Amino acid sequence: MNQLLVIVKAKSPITAGGLRPYGMFITTRDYIPGSVLRGAVAVHWLRTNKGLYDRLFKSQEAVLFGNCYPAQERRHACQPDYTLVLPATARTCKHFPGFVSGFKLRVQENPDLADLEMEPHGVFDTLIPQLVYEAMAEEMPVAFDLRCQRANCECSTEPLAGFYERVIQPFGTKPYTYRAVRARMHRLSHSAISRVTRTAKHGLLYSISALSANNQFRGVVTVPAHLNLAQVEQALRIPRLGARVSSGAGEVEINVYRLPLSDPRCTLPPVSARIRAFNDLLTEHWCDYHALAGRPNALPSKPPDTYFVLTLQSDAILRTPAGTPTLEWNVSTLGGEEVQLVRRWVSPRRVSGWNVAWGLPKAVDLACSAGSVFVYKWKGHLPTDETGAEKHPLVQALREIELVGLGERRAEGFGRVLVCDPFHQEVTSV
Ligand SMILES: [Zn+2]
Repeated sequence: MNQLLVIVKAKSPITAGGLRPYGMFITTRDYIPGSVLRGAVAVHWLRTNKGLYDRLFKSQEAVLFGNCYPAQERRHACQPDYTLVLPATARTCKHFPGFVSGFKLRVQENPDLADLEMEPHGVFDTLIPQLVYEAMAEEMPVAFDLRCQRANCECSTEPLAGFYERVIQPFGTKPYTYRAVRARMHRLSHSAISRVTRTAKHGLLYSISALSANNQFRGVVTVPAHLNLAQVEQALRIPRLGARVSSGAGEVEINVYRLPLSDPRCTLPPVSARIRAFNDLLTEHWCDYHALAGRPNALPSKPPDTYFVLTLQSDAILRTPAGTPTLEWNVSTLGGEEVQLVRRWVSPRRVSGWNVAWGLPKAVDLACSAGSVFVYKWKGHLPTDETGAEKHPLVQALREIELVGLGERRAEGFGRVLVCDPFHQEVTSV
């Protein structure tokens, strides 16, 4: 398997579809789904080069088109090349929401903002504290605190969804700065003129929302090893995508790079290092809560198992072995090791789509939303040396899941997963 980083620059508004129109409003998604990119590549080569179309879409192993998420235009060297989805466990202040570190970065770039905008109170992740609290809930004399962490605020908090970037901060007290990324939207209104009355025809005034020109999106395309990588790179550089291309929408410039790039800012730490960092912080919290427990002797003084987390980076369509739609990935062995699902934060979503080749709508499926979090435990421990840990069968199985994803319709961008997202370690506001 090889991976390609795809950077899509919008040169005209893009309608990325996917949402049901209501009344006179036709809405769009705030990113380019993998299915839209895949559909556009398929239609382009089906019309112009049937041989290439057959190699890309009729091979035994499918090319996996990931969703392309909004990204900031690169302004300085330490900005990363990937956009991540905020986990369902991330929370922010109800009255002053948003990343405080991202705000400080924006003020550095544009000092006038300091007078115009209120400083947000930061975003924090509740997964580790909540997991430890729930493991000891019976012995805890206090309630679990989900209030804002800013001094003198104490407002309640709410989950924060969306996309974020993790920027390396070489000189600050924390190694990373976080900032939310959003696509700029564009609204177009149209009406049909009646030839009789010379006014807007009744029922034909409508408004279309689209992703504005000059937005940038990044995604990953996974290519099976037997395909010629240079040819796939070439095939991805299509001129248009999305709906309404005949009326000028969807003009794009697509650049493709091979991953992993040699530059370290583009890569997350190895899977074993992420698992270790997650468990180290979990142990730290376990010891703190253990000291607070009513009867500490009734509880183990350290976590008895190794925990790992799967955070969905796109919607995932999962089924039980009997074929029933489900909202949990209830696996019992991974890499030959017994694992157990302990907790999940999931919200459901209905997904459908349009099959261009058949000219028919796709089946409606139940999916777990992007950002959903699944926590598993394993009774063993990873070797302490990094090389040994990376070669462990469980780590190799998790790395494979990160590469190929989970569940159905993976070629269309569903089921992308990040193992032990480092954001889960941000237990204090960032
Ligand atoms: Zn607050």
